[in-house]
Amino acid sequence: MTSLNEVSDYRSRQLAAIVESSTDAIISFMLDGTVISWNSGAQQLFGYSIESTIGKGLRQIIGSECDAILDGIKRDKKMDNLEFIHATPDGRLIYLSLSVSAIKDEEGLVSSGAAIFRDITQMKQAESELLRTSQQLAQSNKELEEFAWIAAHDLKEPVRTMGTYSRLLKDEYGPELDEQAQQFLDFIHSAAGKAMARIDDVLKFSAVGREKFIAVPVNLNEVLSSVQEDIQLVIRESKAEITVEPLPKVSGNFHYLTQLFQNLLANAIKYRSESTTPKIKVYAEKEGGLANIIVQDNGIGFSMEDSTRIFRMFQRLHPETRYAGTGLGLAMCKKIVELHGGIINVESEEGKGSKFIVSLPVASK
Ligand code: ADP
Repeated sequence: MTSLNEVSDYRSRQLAAIVESSTDAIISFMLDGTVISWNSGAQQLFGYSIESTIGKGLRQIIGSECDAILDGIKRDKKMDNLEFIHATPDGRLIYLSLSVSAIKDEEGLVSSGAAIFRDITQMKQAESELLRTSQQLAQSNKELEEFAWIAAHDLKEPVRTMGTYSRLLKDEYGPELDEQAQQFLDFIHSAAGKAMARIDDVLKFSAVGREKFIAVPVNLNEVLSSVQEDIQLVIRESKAEITVEPLPKVSGNFHYLTQLFQNLLANAIKYRSESTTPKIKVYAEKEGGLANIIVQDNGIGFSMEDSTRIFRMFQRLHPETRYAGTGLGLAMCKKIVELHGGIINVESEEGKGSKFIVSLPVASK
């Protein structure tokens, strides 16, 4: 039969083996800093052998960090993941993460301490590389947006001129032109109109987030009323039935949220099915600190294979000859939602309608 002593011995040997095989530096020490134990991970990390360490002061080995550690231990303070830079004996600077805990005697008094050091140099280097790359990316994104904004701005005037003069030419000289020449002028006029719509959408898209974003409590019912007023003509013409349930207050910007829901409602009407009256429902479901606002339609829907693509710039699933548009509306919705710290998703099925789910932070007051 195995005695209790044997079990305890076995456990101690197991624990010692675990400590010894760890690549982390595991050290135990007295309250005055005298090192009691030092595993091979510590030997590798600090470059001192076990023999040259035992009995020496912790300060000699890890330098000035020692005082804070001993001080914390005496006060039975648990210290987790403290980060500091350490100079190795061969002159390298490494990042260490340190967790320290007190070891208590049978009377419950702190008698010694244990420290685990982990070399996090590679993680820190990867972190700073990631930060540098994301800063570069943000900078080049900003430059690209600036470029798009300027280009779109500068294009407006010549495109408007093309549209105006092609119309003037047809109006003034129409009778002198043959049918084909008149048709060519119509093509120019229509192309100028489409180009103008794209330019306007690019400008609207670039405008999102150009100004400093300040979030305030916004009543979404007011947003939806304002949107319905803005698109009342389309609602009347399409005979769309829109139901808006009570919506919460979210934290955001009234103007951007109006643009967001205007795009979603206009799409719900635009991509309606020919066989039924368009029925659109807007309702909310709370989930933690977020409000899920759902815009549901009974329109033509689409395959879920395209559920990511539709939020990208200029991506369209339906032909322009049938449904006018530039493919920027949902990209702008995504940009607005992300500016608010939220997310936008969609559930849809071809022929069965779509459900756009906008998750936004709920206003705190
Ligand atoms: P646009 O409507 O100008 O084409 P959007 O970015 O608003 O651009 O939408 C991208 C594409 O997603 C649309 O071209 C359409 O194919 C699809 N889509 C958007 N909303 C709906 C909807 N409610 N029902 C079906 N398809 C939709």
